[in-house]
Formats: sequence, C-alpha cells, structure tokens
Amino acid sequence: MTPSLRLVFWETTKACNLTCRHCRAVPQRAIGPRELTMSRAMDLIDQIAEVARPVMVLSGGEPLFRPDLFDIGEYGVQSGFRMALATNGTLVTGRVAARIADAGFSRVAISVDGAQAETHDRFRGVPGSHRLALRGLRNLRDDGVSVQINSTIAKHNVAELPSLLDLALEIGADALHLFMLVPVGCGLEIAPTDMLPADEYERVGGGGGGGGGGGGGGREMGHGQHLSAMTRGCLAGTSVCFISNEGAVYPCGYLPVSAGDTRVQRFADIWNASEVFRLLRDPAAYEGKCGECRYEAICGGCRARAYAATGSFLAEEPFCTYRPDLDRGVITLQEARHDSQIH
Ligand code: SF4
Ligand code: SF4
Repeated sequence: MTPSLRLVFWETTKACNLTCRHCRAVPQRAIGPRELTMSRAMDLIDQIAEVARPVMVLSGGEPLFRPDLFDIGEYGVQSGFRMALATNGTLVTGRVAARIADAGFSRVAISVDGAQAETHDRFRGVPGSHRLALRGLRNLRDDGVSVQINSTIAKHNVAELPSLLDLALEIGADALHLFMLVPVGCGLEIAPTDMLPADEYERVGGGGGGGGGGGGGGREMGHGQHLSAMTRGCLAGTSVCFISNEGAVYPCGYLPVSAGDTRVQRFADIWNASEVFRLLRDPAAYEGKCGECRYEAICGGCRARAYAATGSFLAEEPFCTYRPDLDRGVITLQEARHDSQIH
C-alpha cells in the first residue's frame, strides 16, 4: 500500500538574495526561465490534491522573490492544504507580513543560524541578515502568524544552542527546528571539519531510532501544530517529498535523485509507482548496517548523507554510531543466560 503523503516541500524558485554557505541550491538572483508559472503552479497543486492534501511548505531559494507567492499560498489554502512558508526572513517587512497573514499561511519558518548576529551573518554571506530575519519573525508574530525558527547546526554555532533557545522563547516562536548539515549544494563547499562529529551530532539531537540517523530534531513551544510531527527519522519518499523549481519530484530536498517530472508525468503516478520511492519504502533494499538494523522502521538513516558519502541512497548512514552487530551480540548473550537458567 502506498504510504500517505503528509508533507510536501516545494522549491518555488531558486532565486535568492543571500549566499548561504550551506544552501542546497546554488543561488541565482532572478527567477529562472523554466521555473513553474502561476498556471503550472496551480496545476501542480491540483495534481497533488489527487493524492492527498498534505502540509505544503513553499521554499526556495527565497520564495518571496516570486511576486505570485501570495496567490500560490491562497490557492493552496482554497484547495484544502495547510500552507507554510520557509524563508530567510530578510524581505518580511510589515507589509509583506500582512500579505502572508492574508493569504492564509498557517506557519512561517525563518532560518536563524546563531544567537549572535555575527555568527549568522557570516554563515549567510550578508551583513545585517540576522537583524532582518529577527525583524521578519517579530512582524509575522505581530500579525498573528505562527512562526518557527529553523537552525542549521554545525561546529561554528553548536555552542550557541542554549542562547538560540532563549532567543526563540523571547520572540514567541512556536518551534525551534534543528537541521544537521548535509553535504550537498553549496554545502559541498563546507569542509568536513566544519561538520559535527557523529558523537556530537547525536548529543545535539540528530535523533533517529537507535543511532541518530535522521536529518533534524525539533522543539515545539506552545500551541502550534507540529509541521513535521511524523513517525520516522527519515521520511524521504515515505511521507515526504520535494518538488524542484522546475517541477521534478525528489524524495527530499537534500537527495538529488529524481523520482519523476510533473511536466511529463502525473504526480500521482510518480508518488505511487516510481522506482526510487518503491526502493525507499522497501526495508529489504537498505544496505549495510541500516539494512540489518532493528531500528530501521523508526529511523532509516539519512538517505541524503548516505548518497553524498557513497553515491547510493540505500547505503548505510555514515553518521550513525549505533552498532547493530554489537546489539545482536548483547541479545545473544541475554538469550544465552536465559537459556542457561532454563536448563
Ligand atoms: S534524506 Fe536526510 S535530510 Fe532528507 S528527509 Fe531523510 S533524514 Fe531528512
Ligand atoms: S544503523 Fe541506520 S537505521 Fe539503524 S540506527 Fe543507525 S542510521 Fe538508523
């Protein structure tokens, strides 16, 4: 049975005003010629509605580069989706915040990569972007829009996590979501030495099942409904998918293996029958220790990191410290003790 689609990330444009060191997209400054027009965008929403009406997160690049972004949001809301926006926040003036509220977005996630302005600005490549991101969060909150802070965690900012939590509480954010750096896009430029080692990653809360394979951790604060309250560490291709700015479908935004193209295929056919999704949903297809791990069903490792490290999205998660072989040894020992008590 095809699992239910619960969350769609849609990269509405690649255009962006910042040059973040870790960004998935290699940024451009203007809307690309092959990016989906408003009529194609509406068609895409209609196609996804044939499968489910999941939470739909409009992302980028910087989605607010699209002048029709509010129309897309409104059309999604009218079509029965819970619409959310993921933005760098720098363009969210009071007027833009009011338009976001009017369009009916349920939540806006803004990236803040440090409690200190300097940390964030260095990472984002533009001085002043921290101040503007916080202004955006406050404007939205003042207009009654639920806000979430997204933070990409690596060595440069891991020490600021406690003060980042304080900042989120002070702003009145409904959630603080932590993302562990995945080496794709501009992230390939980041030296492996900048990334957290596996044990530190686990301490911070990379949290998949037994060993911490999943891509991110989150803290909900207060009432807002969790945008990613899901059931497994990695949800790529099982409950989640990513649509590129040109309409191609991927398991997740960090895994550059296309499952199909909505310009030439129906979304329903891709979601229900593509080979990439079939493999991701098949525990027997997983390789290495993820293939033999008893936590696979609740973890799955990060398929994007596996792909980046090995070229196979089914390979074992390279950042997992869990040892299924040792665990098996413990069980065998317990069984042996149990056996010896019986006999
Ligand atoms: S592949 Fe990695 S980044 Fe993508 S959904 Fe899975 S855990 Fe998250
Ligand atoms: S071996 Fe793979 S499935 Fe098991 S805990 Fe580690 S990352 Fe998760």
